[in-house]
Amino acid sequence: MEKDFADLLRNHHLKVTNARLEVLKVIAGHGAAVSQPFLEKLIGTGVDRVTLYRILNTLDEKGILHKVIDLDGTANYAMCSTACTEHQHHDEHIHFNCTNCRKVYCMHDYILPDVNAPEGFDIQSLNLSVNGICKNCNNEQ
Ligand SMILES: [Zn+2]
Ligand SMILES: [Zn+2]
Ligand SMILES: [Zn+2]
Repeated sequence: MEKDFADLLRNHHLKVTNARLEVLKVIAGHGAAVSQPFLEKLIGTGVDRVTLYRILNTLDEKGILHKVIDLDGTANYAMCSTACTEHQHHDEHIHFNCTNCRKVYCMHDYILPDVNAPEGFDIQSLNLSVNGICKNCNNEQ
């Protein structure tokens, strides 16, 4: 797992650092998008605030992570599909917002429809989110 993340960074021409590996490990192991406040818990474990934000921005720019805004307006980060590249994200999937635990999930199997913008409009990104109760919360009831 750790070695895969190192390869992932190298494939995107990024230096492998412990802080970057740590961030990737947390996000990939989470099963949902990870909120910025949650990631801030890493601060102090060899990662400081400035480094954390820089890492998130870099990984977003490089097409390794994508940002999702949750119901509270907080930034969350999730792993990208392999189709994402440095200049273009291809995370055209639906995001599921749980109204109970407020987590955001990537629904990779639900691809967004093609949208044709009217003449003179350029679409740069497409976002569709669905609100409801997630599997974990349903199982707890
Ligand atoms: Zn992406
Ligand atoms: Zn939930
Ligand atoms: Zn996603």
